Amino acid sequence: MKVTVVGLGPGAGADLTGRARRAIEGADLIVGYTAYTDLIRDEFPDKEMLSTGMKKEVDRCRMAVRAAAEEGRNVAVVCSGDPGVYGMAGLIYEVSREFAPVEIEVVPGITAACGGAAVLGAPLTHDFAVISLSDLLTPWEKIEKRLECAAEADFVICLYNPRSRGRADYLERACDIIMRSRPAGTVCGYVKNIGRSGETYRILSLGELRGCTDVDMFTTVYIGNSQTAVINGNMVTPRGYMQRGE
Ligand code: SAH
Repeated sequence: MKVTVVGLGPGAGADLTGRARRAIEGADLIVGYTAYTDLIRDEFPDKEMLSTGMKKEVDRCRMAVRAAAEEGRNVAVVCSGDPGVYGMAGLIYEVSREFAPVEIEVVPGITAACGGAAVLGAPLTHDFAVISLSDLLTPWEKIEKRLECAAEADFVICLYNPRSRGRADYLERACDIIMRSRPAGTVCGYVKNIGRSGETYRILSLGELRGCTDVDMFTTVYIGNSQTAVINGNMVTPRGYMQRGE
């Protein structure tokens, strides 16, 4: 009948929007990656949930669209953060072409960049670029080019998927590229487990970030622009109001 692609926010719980909650309540089948269905299982104990492991994205989306198109079910596909930011929203539209027409609705959520920014202070108050360091679906050369251009253009840079087991040195490589046009003293930060138990953060320099081994795949990384500063222990990128002399 319908597929609703729902963003749960960084940790579900308090960051789940009212609209997302209503979409889950209104669904009769919840589909998602196991780690995400686990996040909401306690809160929605009576819902039927279908989960699959990582790297099964196409199967999972086909399963969801098939249940709506062929069995007339009301399906919610749940993603962490926002479903349109490295989430399932695009893939749901792509696989839907294989089935009879089905209604699709996307319910936005708080993406990790925004959730983590609020933990650090206000690092994204000016133009920023979001770049994923995962080369599973994007060639590494393209990622390097994007890092280089974003650094040159003085964007604040927010990194998703900064490290995984198979990619231990990608953050280091990204920092090296950024340091070609930005000083090692540039203010950076990272937040782990945003909105979940074990949430931690650290503010550090770009030079320190380069050698940092604490960053894992549940971490979002922030690299400040030339104006980013530390104010009372928070990472802040001025928009320019004070500099205008008000
Ligand atoms: N759709 C998600 C992003 C999925 S990509 C969103 O909008 O947030 C997965 C990457 O997002 C992780 O490797 C990490 O960099 C970041 N991320 C997602 N949830 C996070 C959380 N709770 N804490 C820290 N980083 C998170």
